[in-house]
Amino acid sequence: MALIVQKFGGTSVATLERIKNVAKRVARFHADGHQIVVVVSAMAGETNRLLGLARELQARPDPRELDVLVSTGEQVTIALTAMALTELGLRARSYTGTQVKILTDDAHTKARILNIDEANLRADLEDGYVVVVAGFQGADASNNITTLGRGGSDTTAVAIAAALKADECQIYTDVDGVYTTDPRIVEEARRLKTITFEEMLEMASLGSKVLQIRSVEFAGKYRVPLRVLSSFEEGGEGTLITFEEGTMMERAIISGIAFNKDEAKITVLGVPDRPGIAYQILGPVADANIDVDMIIQNVGVDGLTDFSFTVHRGDFHKAMEILQQVQSHICAREVLGDDKIAKVSVVGVGMRSHVGIASTAFRALAEEGINIQMISTSEIKISVVIDEKYMELAVRVLHKVFELDQPAESV
Ligand code: ADP
Ligand code: ASP
Ligand code: MG
Repeated sequence: MALIVQKFGGTSVATLERIKNVAKRVARFHADGHQIVVVVSAMAGETNRLLGLARELQARPDPRELDVLVSTGEQVTIALTAMALTELGLRARSYTGTQVKILTDDAHTKARILNIDEANLRADLEDGYVVVVAGFQGADASNNITTLGRGGSDTTAVAIAAALKADECQIYTDVDGVYTTDPRIVEEARRLKTITFEEMLEMASLGSKVLQIRSVEFAGKYRVPLRVLSSFEEGGEGTLITFEEGTMMERAIISGIAFNKDEAKITVLGVPDRPGIAYQILGPVADANIDVDMIIQNVGVDGLTDFSFTVHRGDFHKAMEILQQVQSHICAREVLGDDKIAKVSVVGVGMRSHVGIASTAFRALAEEGINIQMISTSEIKISVVIDEKYMELAVRVLHKVFELDQPAESV
């Protein structure tokens, strides 16, 4: 007998028919003698619909009220899932985040889980119940409803699995595992049997939304066995997130290509090339709680230099306003903004032991006439910023040049 946390995403609970299918799958595991905690997202499109309603009413709704609003999506699906399970003759009980007491900080719309009171869940499991928990939500110390950021139900599932020391956390979604890149963009993408935790962390942080990054962080911190599977197919093995590089069955140098259009670039032209200039530019940006990702400073000529950095697209206008305010103070010639960029990244732990990966990537992009605007590298990834209109082409070209469409060698 195992304790398994099973999470079903929005498309997996999009209709009553699909909720019934979820219930059937859960019932089969339960019949095999396993204890099951189900975590569900809102029905597909529901969170967007609710956010749209809020925006129709107010340009900048109070984040506390936004959380009260968007958390309702998951409250609907937990109740319906519990009913569907009961209909199959199982005993099931639903819980909102507040009812479980998933304690978070008070950062509305992007709260972090601090603690989970697992006593009630455990007692229900011991009594033979299937426990159905709302993803994406919690409550702060003053009992305000909070949400965990888009895609946050993954994090709820992994955090509950960690709290209950579950044997496995299974993320059921609309693809049958983690692929070498988004299979909706590259048809030839291949499912990975395993991916290391470190690579999954990079893929998630660089835009692969198949798992929310915080769920991967949790899995790493608490060593939660994590698997991504299809909710529409039976019997698939999905993708296992592994902790040991040595246990990988597939040994590719590159594991995948990630991409996102969530960033925007700001360039400050003609700033004096003197100590403290980076601080003078980025200090006010940081003070406004805006995260900066890539940074490039050119070699100065004539005592002047250009300085570029990227921020999340949602922070673009605020960051531009800040820079326009500091422009005269730092004697910059001009501040330029571009929110039509994309970041494409090549990820793989195998890169550590191979040279020439970056030049292969740059050559492949050059051959397609794709101009690279910014580059950043680490031991296990290379990211480039390009014009967003070339994003899909760049992903395809990189996927091909690193032969990710070919079966990986087995060890
Ligand atoms: P859910 O609603 O089940 O949480 P998401 O839409 O959040 O599902 O995540 C699944 C989607 O992630 C897939 O439909 C796919 O388009 C996308 N995706 C992006 N990168 C990858 C990847 N490397 N492997 C698999 N899916 C990916
Ligand atoms: N319903 C939330 C969202 O759409 C959380 C999730 O699906 O994981 O972002
Ligand atoms: Mg998701």
